[in-house]
Order: sequence, then C-alpha cells, then structure tokens
Amino acid sequence: MSRSIEKLLQPKTHSQKHQLLKELGFTIPLAKECTDIIEVERFMQEIGKKRNDLPFMIDGIWVGVNDNEIYKKLGVVGKAPRGAIAWKFPAEEVTTKLLDIVVQVGRTGALTPVAILEPVQVAGSTVSRATLHNAKEIERKDVRIGDTVIVRKAGDIIPEVVKPLIELRPTKPRPTRSGFGVARFKMPKHCPTCWSDIKRVGELDFCVNRKCFTQTKRQIIHFVSKGAMDIDGLGPKIIEQLLNEGLIKDETDLFELTEGDLKPLERFADKSAENIIQSIENCKKVKLGRFIYALGIRHVGAIMADDIAKYFGEMSKFQNSSIDQLNEIYGMGDIVAKSIVDYFADEHNQSKVRKVLKSIKLENPHRREQKLAGKTFVITGGLESMTREQAEQKIRDLGGRASSSVSKETDFLVVGTDPGSKAEKAKKMGIDIIGEKEFSNML
Ligand SMILES: [Zn+2]
Repeated sequence: MSRSIEKLLQPKTHSQKHQLLKELGFTIPLAKECTDIIEVERFMQEIGKKRNDLPFMIDGIWVGVNDNEIYKKLGVVGKAPRGAIAWKFPAEEVTTKLLDIVVQVGRTGALTPVAILEPVQVAGSTVSRATLHNAKEIERKDVRIGDTVIVRKAGDIIPEVVKPLIELRPTKPRPTRSGFGVARFKMPKHCPTCWSDIKRVGELDFCVNRKCFTQTKRQIIHFVSKGAMDIDGLGPKIIEQLLNEGLIKDETDLFELTEGDLKPLERFADKSAENIIQSIENCKKVKLGRFIYALGIRHVGAIMADDIAKYFGEMSKFQNSSIDQLNEIYGMGDIVAKSIVDYFADEHNQSKVRKVLKSIKLENPHRREQKLAGKTFVITGGLESMTREQAEQKIRDLGGRASSSVSKETDFLVVGTDPGSKAEKAKKMGIDIIGEKEFSNML
C-alpha cells in the first residue's frame, strides 16, 4: 500500500475522502475545494456551463463543510444535516400545446386531471403527459385545453404544467374534443370508469364506489408491488384479466388463486403460472412494515410504514391506534395520522384487512424499547456528551417526546451548561429538573 493511501485511510476532510476513492480506482465526481461562498457560486456557474456536455444528468451541486469534525458537530435537523446543502439549477422550461385533459382514477379513488401534451423534450426525455393535481389547481393556473403551456420537470423528475401563455390562447371556442380552439376543463360529474357519483373532499374529487374497477386494479397493483407484498409476475395486464374473469374481486382474493386459474391467462403475465403461485406462496410470510405499506393507506409511504411497524410492533396495536398515539411517531403529521384513523374506521377496509390476515403471517419487528413512552422532555443549555439533536433523537427513539418549550405537558427539563430562562419557568411550574448525568442514566 502506498504511503499516501495509508494517510488517506483516516480522512479528516471530505475532499480527502474523494482522493482516497480516486487512489482506490473509483471515478470521483467533479468537485472543488472552495475557501468562501463566492468561490462556490463561481464553481456552480462553471458546472452550469458544462452541464449539457456531461455524459449524465445533473440537477445541481452538493455544497458541504469540508472538515469532517465540524460537519459532525453541526449535527442534523430532522433528517437534514446542517453541514451540507443541495444547490439546484433552475429547472429547464419549454413550451408545448395542451391537447386535452383526461381524468385518471387512482387507487384511493382520487380523480386526477392529467394534461395530454404535444410530445416535447424536457430535461433529457420526451414528455407527453403531466399531472394537473386537481380541478382547483387548473382553475388557479387558468389552464385551458388548446392553450400553449410552459412545462418543466419538478425536481427534474415529474413533469408539471407551470402556466399557460395567455397571449397565445386561441380566440375561438373548441367545438369538439380534438378540434382547434380553446375549452375550459370541467371535472366530470361521474367516475370515468364506473360512472358512480363523485364526492369532493377538500380540493380533491373521489369516486364514491369502493368497488370501482380502476380503483381496485390500482390498489392491487400497489399491493403486489416490489416495496409492498412483492408478488412477482402479476403485472397490470394479468390483474385486469383476473378482475374481468371474476377470479378475484380485490387483493384479498389473490391468496386463493390456483395454478389452474392462472394457466389460461399466462400470456398476459411475464412469469409462468407456476412461478406466480410460488411467489404468492412466498409472500405469505411478510414483514409488518411491508404489509402496512401494501395496504395503500393514503400518505403512508414505505419509510413511514416501517417506522409505524417498529413503533407498534404488531398489527393489532396499529389498527386500534389513536391520532395522539400516532403523533408520537417521528415524522408523523396530523394529516397522515388522520388518514390512518379514517382508513381503519372504514368497514370495507376492516373486513379486507381481516380477510388478508387469515391468509398470511406477519413477521413483527423487534419493537424499540419504549422506556420513555409518554414522557415529554425539554432540553436547555449545551450538553457535554452529545448535541441537542442527538439527545432529542434518543428521546424519540425510546418513545418519548422532545419539545422546545416548557409547558404543563413537560415532564422533565434537562439542564445543560449555560441554561436560559427555561429553568426558572420550569421551577415555578414544579417540573422535574434534571442534569445531563441523570438524563444519560434514563437512556
Ligand atoms: Zn369509479
């Protein structure tokens, strides 16, 4: 091993890490060590000029504190480190024609208007569809069918319609769907799939029929997807056929399928009937977090589902949880918590969950030790052994709550060096005041 590598094996700075990787034969990113922020800005401009000639796509640069020690000391707010930031280039914007607006039914029954565009190149790919979110959003942006619109990719990934160019709007009304001229979008009064009534909740429109074909199909697609139950070979085409043939009514029926049921439909799948049945068999033992994600509860993504699983440790506790309890989970907000409680309050969902649980076996995660459950802590002043963020994270990991202000909810005030006025207040309110050592002993 060369001497330089030996020195580099204990990198003290971020740029030394780059050097180490380079010595080991890796390709390292374009980077520069800058001494002040002006130099960083100049580097960003330089990269911006080279951007289109690079053999890969970039949407910005990463700026970080070079010294590892300082980087660590700066700590983390939520999930974002204080020592680093992403600087994004402004998104590339192009204009194109809005040919039509169609309505798509999602797995939760939400109806989403989707812009059908004259195909156009944006940030490296051809775009012909873009979400318009909901009817209110279309009104707000005053987007009309037949408009010339500005399109960009949000975060350089999801195409969106920014706004119409009103000066280019045709003056004539549009007599037919595909004709020339301009027309306002109207949310249909019925679901485009099942013709059921539509209910508005907030700014969103929902198909009220719980057995709506498209809704059911999308729900099943989500249920079998990779991060969820991960059933191999069940693509949209075969799911559609299974529903059409009446072999399944919803995802709960998947576990009763036989090879004989699937055999005639093999041509709609990318796997053999035997393989699909094997895959269904395999997923009958599933991790709790995956199963929670597979339910497709609105706003509950894969990471949140995993956190929920670790928090409750078992399905029944999660199913019967309250908004207050759910709020104890780090990262959970009122909207998500309400969505969960609403989901389990619905009888249709309850019976689906009950039915699936008869066919599968859940693997419960190791439940985090909830030593501090129900206790609220406030930390004031500096701690010796950890940063305040680390301390707050530990409290949350152990089921407690970390708050920034003293109130009657506070159980303990942890006093570090140079405490502020909080200690006074806590004393008056009769709250337990503890030092760092006592606090550490509780962890
Ligand atoms: Zn419907």
